[in-house]
Amino acid sequence: MKNKNFIEISEVGPRDGLQSIKTIMPLKAKKKWISAAADAGVPEIEVGSFVPAQLLPQLADTAELVAHALTIPNLTVAVLVPNLKGAENAIKAGAHKITIPLSASETHSLKNVNRTHAQMIEEVKNIVALIKTMPSDKKPKFEGGISTAFGCTLEGKVSKSKIIEIAYALMDAGCNEVGLSDTTGYATPNHIIKLVKAVKSEIGEQNLTGLHLHNTRGLGLANVVAALDHGITTFDASLGGIGGCPFAPGASGNIVTEDLVFMLNSMGYETGIDIEKLLHVREIVKEALPEETLYGFLPEAGMPKGEYYGE
Ligand code: ZN
Repeated sequence: MKNKNFIEISEVGPRDGLQSIKTIMPLKAKKKWISAAADAGVPEIEVGSFVPAQLLPQLADTAELVAHALTIPNLTVAVLVPNLKGAENAIKAGAHKITIPLSASETHSLKNVNRTHAQMIEEVKNIVALIKTMPSDKKPKFEGGISTAFGCTLEGKVSKSKIIEIAYALMDAGCNEVGLSDTTGYATPNHIIKLVKAVKSEIGEQNLTGLHLHNTRGLGLANVVAALDHGITTFDASLGGIGGCPFAPGASGNIVTEDLVFMLNSMGYETGIDIEKLLHVREIVKEALPEETLYGFLPEAGMPKGEYYGE
């Protein structure tokens, strides 16, 4: 039973981080990373994405990573799938949680997956039908992730009504819950509060619990603090913030797991993560990706001297 002060961190570095960089991390190093992160107490890891290998060769070993991660006790093994085919593979591999991204910007959706919103919702329905055929103890949790929810590099502003419409459609199609993704790093604390409140009041408090944030404009952690006050209990983050935005030099990709854990622990939230152990996980990633920049303020500056937690 989780404490009500528990905030779940989902490590998405092996998926979001690695898909954004060219270097292919060897399977062995990925396994080592996943094991070490779980050992540090990370409760959920998005280990990859079931996309065709020719599109993202970095993630071609996702099935092997799911198999590996499933051997780790108490770890929720999450994957991303773009379509029914991906979901079939995810289910075959035995993933606990499947997320399908649906871009709130239709222009982005067409460009990314060549599908309209209506077509994506059909795909969601097909996946739900597939999950329904499974025995209840094998059914994965199925989340609809609304990407570009806070703005799109192609369409600009995405209206609140559009997000609500998509959130409803995803829930109606049979998703267990929806999540909001700041794919472009456009979100600000105000925007987070407005959208989280609006979506929760429409589809139900319990049906939106997670955010996927990027730190492109330096507001990642500020956005977390804003969301914490409005009932968000799961945050995606990536170790070393790998996968920084090529258009924003110096900016990490996702929010940095190490900085996020440091902040949440110091605010008195329970993450289950041992920060010292987590900092050591960085060495594995650094060694496997010597050319890549690893981000994070805490890892650079070090832990503050003396006792300070919960003060
Ligand atoms: Zn992302």
